[in-house]
Amino acid sequence: MSATDRLLKGIGVSPGIAMGPTVTVRWALPEVPHRVVPRTQVEKEVRRLRAALKDVRGQIAELRARAEARAGVDEARIFDAQLLILEDKDFIGGVAELIRENHFTAEKAFEFKTLEVRDLWTAAGNPLLKERLADLTGVAIRVILHLMHKRGSSDIWESLSEPSILVARELSPGLTVQLDRDHVVGLISEEGTRQSHAAILAHSIGIPAIFGLRGAVARIPAGTKAILDGTLGTVLLNPTPGEIEEAERRDTSRRELTARLEEAVSQPSDTVDKVHVALRGNVDLPEEVAPAKAHGAEGVGLLRTEFLITGHSELPDEESQTNYFRHVGEAFPGQPVVIRTYDLGGDKFPAPFRSPPEANPFLGWRAIRVCLDEPEIFRTQIRAVLRAAVTANLHLMIPLVTRLDEVERTREMMHEEAERLEKQGVPAAKTVPLGVMVETPAAAVLADRLAEVSDFLSVGTNDLTQYTLVVDRGNARLADRFTPHDPSVLRLLKLVAEAARAAGKPASVCGEMASEPLSAFLLLGLGYETLSVAPPKLPLIKWLIRQVSTAQARSAAEAALAARSAELALDILRFALAEVVDTSLLDPDARLPAGRRSGSLKL
Ligand code: PEP
Ligand code: MG
Repeated sequence: MSATDRLLKGIGVSPGIAMGPTVTVRWALPEVPHRVVPRTQVEKEVRRLRAALKDVRGQIAELRARAEARAGVDEARIFDAQLLILEDKDFIGGVAELIRENHFTAEKAFEFKTLEVRDLWTAAGNPLLKERLADLTGVAIRVILHLMHKRGSSDIWESLSEPSILVARELSPGLTVQLDRDHVVGLISEEGTRQSHAAILAHSIGIPAIFGLRGAVARIPAGTKAILDGTLGTVLLNPTPGEIEEAERRDTSRRELTARLEEAVSQPSDTVDKVHVALRGNVDLPEEVAPAKAHGAEGVGLLRTEFLITGHSELPDEESQTNYFRHVGEAFPGQPVVIRTYDLGGDKFPAPFRSPPEANPFLGWRAIRVCLDEPEIFRTQIRAVLRAAVTANLHLMIPLVTRLDEVERTREMMHEEAERLEKQGVPAAKTVPLGVMVETPAAAVLADRLAEVSDFLSVGTNDLTQYTLVVDRGNARLADRFTPHDPSVLRLLKLVAEAARAAGKPASVCGEMASEPLSAFLLLGLGYETLSVAPPKLPLIKWLIRQVSTAQARSAAEAALAARSAELALDILRFALAEVVDTSLLDPDARLPAGRRSGSLKL
């Protein structure tokens, strides 16, 4: 078997590395012999069913308590759905009816009803019912085994002689919550995604797991030695001693990094020479507010607002926007929350907002252009920001700016709306800081002028790269050419930082670049002292900031600016960072290529 045949890929749903032999678990309805009961026994059979339901309810309540203790209150609720099935009058009534009318045994009747409902739900094709299907199967297996006086697959690991990796077609939450890490070190399932209940439990309990690995049961014979990497979502079969060593090394560095990142969360994001770098969070959805806070974000550097429209049939009103902005603003008392006005267009034209078809939507009626042309939509959003700013430190930021008058017009509208709110007696701020997203070459080149008419600049490196290099950011075929470290983009980044400094206005970066360690190091060196990053990346970037000095970052940035290509710029950054940080802990992209770790590069 070649190395590629030995490497299987699925979805990593619970991180970490596990090694051991595999064991196959069957999680399916047991075979139920077809038997009928005499008419005189029918009521006794119904009573047997009721007694079994009571016992299984007890078993599930016990699992629920165990899940609460091992994984948490929210995770324990996963079992409520199973309890509800056992109490469902229609479902249980249906089983009793099958016993009474067809003289089925209780186990046959339960199997029959389960299959009937399963077919009905499968035919509905609703993805939300998929998890319910797993709950139904889980309950049915328990009830049927109980009625047949048999033990379940959940007892399997007790007989394992060494720590093993379970392989299954599907894993139930009930089985997962009972697993014991001394016996089961990893999980592989053909079915399921990150959102599956069993995946959520595996993650909370801390067992590395891969779901959605097609054909796993057939491709991984029981007893095969395997290395499972739940972070990468890979399984390596029959590993060589070298591969085992490499996996162990990877595991150790990940653990070390995790421990260091946990420490970093409560510490200030100051460089070695005590320059404070403000780290804010990018928030796209309401549920990202809590992780941003938990990871120590100093406010929100980019609050995307498109989610208020996408998936809705109507545009959001002023009230609901005010409430949302207030909610986010109040979550970060005193710290800035930068609200980006609707970035519609390009690929984002949600249903309630009809737009004419265009030949080149990314060069078309987008973002601030749409907002200025549809003043009612824009004014509603501005009013909501002003109203919510009474109790929070809110900023307004406009996307895809290419001209000065877009900023000036927005400021005028903000003043007009503030006056209108005052006249109406609605409590609202008179004004809020107005910022420009620098994400087009035009804005970068005009940064000095834009800095004069705005209160702050924030670079959107995703679009800036796309428009500078003329590379569609969503085109997989061009992915290799989407290089934010291209010398042209680096020059623009430097231009913007210098223009902002000369004008005495703050400049930050809120594009994806800020969330990668190598780029964060570069951006610091280019003069950016505020970065807004994806919430899960906050500890990593803070850990990095705390180990470098601005002088080191500056000299690395200077050298990268002089590079002839994006690849060379990246190499320079890798070398420079490896001088000061243990980059072997980082993702392969940020690490120095093997064989090039010794010697230093003159910067
Ligand atoms: C950007 O373009 O870098 C940016 C942050 O905005 P978005 O990704 O929402 O276009
Ligand atoms: Mg953008």
